[in-house]
Amino acid sequence: MYLRANAKINLSLDVLRKRDDGYHDVRMIMQMVGMYDRLNLTPVTGLPGIHLTTNLSYIPVNENNLVVKAAKMLMDEFGVTDGLEIRLDKFIPVAAGLAGGSSDAAQTFLGVNRLFGLGLTKEELMQRGARIGADVPYCILGGTALSEGVGDILTPLPPMPDACILLCKPNINVSTKEIYTELRAAELAFHPDVDAQIRALKEGDLRAMTAPGVMYNVLETVTGIKHPVINRIETAMTEAGALASIMSGSGPTVFGIFDDTDKAEACRVMLKKTRPSARTFLTWPADTRKGRHHYERK
Ligand code: ATP
Repeated sequence: MYLRANAKINLSLDVLRKRDDGYHDVRMIMQMVGMYDRLNLTPVTGLPGIHLTTNLSYIPVNENNLVVKAAKMLMDEFGVTDGLEIRLDKFIPVAAGLAGGSSDAAQTFLGVNRLFGLGLTKEELMQRGARIGADVPYCILGGTALSEGVGDILTPLPPMPDACILLCKPNINVSTKEIYTELRAAELAFHPDVDAQIRALKEGDLRAMTAPGVMYNVLETVTGIKHPVINRIETAMTEAGALASIMSGSGPTVFGIFDDTDKAEACRVMLKKTRPSARTFLTWPADTRKGRHHYERK
């Protein structure tokens, strides 16, 4: 069974407070984009266990991989005795703020449920997904959604208006845990206007959705300070005609929203030249351009 696990970006990301249990209450708008990893699930009779292979040597293939964790959770619960071979081809940059691992896990949940006829509903899969990672329930839901609580309260929103999304991942590593630990949630001077962004989505108004002060990510107060390259990429994107440019998740990937494909492509080429170690991708909102694929040119 072939599956596509799409990347996500955060059209806005707000942190409301640090809770007593150490987690943070967030309010953010999630958007699936056209870039995806490929998964192939094959049941094998007579060879119990989960056998994962991938195209990347540096990600785990044991239970530390979210794909194995997800498959094992469902197969153990339902006493599946067949084995499962999983091939994972990763194209989504790893540890980039694009929820690649969470999306792989989400598709594994959906795939294992169908493959072995477990009969779980999307909601039941989302409940189980939350035990693997905060973004997994959203990745099962897909599309455009408001995410609240610790990422467990999801409200579907109208699809994002059509646009070109340019992604740029600088060659730096960021730990999500570290960024949240260093965030001073009570001292944040600016917050995105998430309500205005929801109104803009309902009205299908791309300019209002990307207006200054509306599209913003509070985690830039941590990742952006540590890594000035993030701000430089954002400036380059807006100077090249992006309606807005912010960081996704805890970073380091920066994205720009363009209403003009030629400008977006010209910006991608320029970034490729000026920042050869960064990875750049041109993509689209996943649900408005079904069948369109991202591309990355060397
Ligand atoms: P988020 O946006 O949720 O913070 P991310 O895109 O920043 O996620 P991932 O690509 O999901 O981060 O990977 C983070 C870590 O998880 C990596 O260090 C990697 O070793 C581990 N990992 C486990 N399973 C996977 C997977 N299927 N794909 C990629 N990384 C995985």
